[in-house]
Amino acid sequence: MRRKLAAGNWKMNGLRAALAEAEAITAAAAADGPEVLLCPPATLLAPMAAQAEGTALQIGGQYCHPAPSGAHTGHVSAPMLRDAGASYVIVGHSERRQDDGERDADVRAQTLAAWQAGLTAIVCVGETEAERDAANTLAIIGGQLAGSIPDTATGANLVVAYEPVWAIGTGRVPSVDQIGEVHDFIRARLEQRFGEGVGRSVRLLYGGSVKPGNAAEIFAVSNVDGALVGGASLTAADFTGIIAALG
Ligand code: PEP
Repeated sequence: MRRKLAAGNWKMNGLRAALAEAEAITAAAAADGPEVLLCPPATLLAPMAAQAEGTALQIGGQYCHPAPSGAHTGHVSAPMLRDAGASYVIVGHSERRQDDGERDADVRAQTLAAWQAGLTAIVCVGETEAERDAANTLAIIGGQLAGSIPDTATGANLVVAYEPVWAIGTGRVPSVDQIGEVHDFIRARLEQRFGEGVGRSVRLLYGGSVKPGNAAEIFAVSNVDGALVGGASLTAADFTGIIAALG
């Protein structure tokens, strides 16, 4: 059985005062319920991890450099995230692919770095609106999966997040049929490449404008094991509503 996962991506949001919000979210994280993960900006990682000590809340980074250390001003490495208290890291988010020109090969290198540091990587894939309109969605996702995921994936070190670029932060959500088609496709590709055992154990998250009001419908779709949530993870009221919908 794959454990459900509700992951919150705070992006470049949150000052220390926001730790109170994280504390309220912690109350919704139980060892026998869905796994709950918050990925704050790097400045809040250590204090949030300290606050979460002894609770079921997991903490993650939003990016890691492929190298463990070195002359890379402004970057953060996977061992640094781990040292600050992270157990997960998001890699290949479409905002980084767009803003920072990250390609599949970069995401692959970051994923390897994450694994070397003992972090679980949440590898993001997703099509743009133009790619969907051109009926290229599955080809794009297939290419991103092949190029971004290293050969040594397991159900423990990998989570895949399907995030249609046009649904992120827009309030637009694909139909449940569209989500199901892509999630079934990702599952099939993982099984083909890594074998049934590994392929079936990797958790698949949907991301893009998930809210308390649409979460239950999305979570009922086959091969949706949880969500990667941006805006609605910033407040405990919204994020705990999504966690509750996950069961
Ligand atoms: C995201 O950025 O990963 C995301 C899903 O954002 P939002 O929930 O705000 O659409």
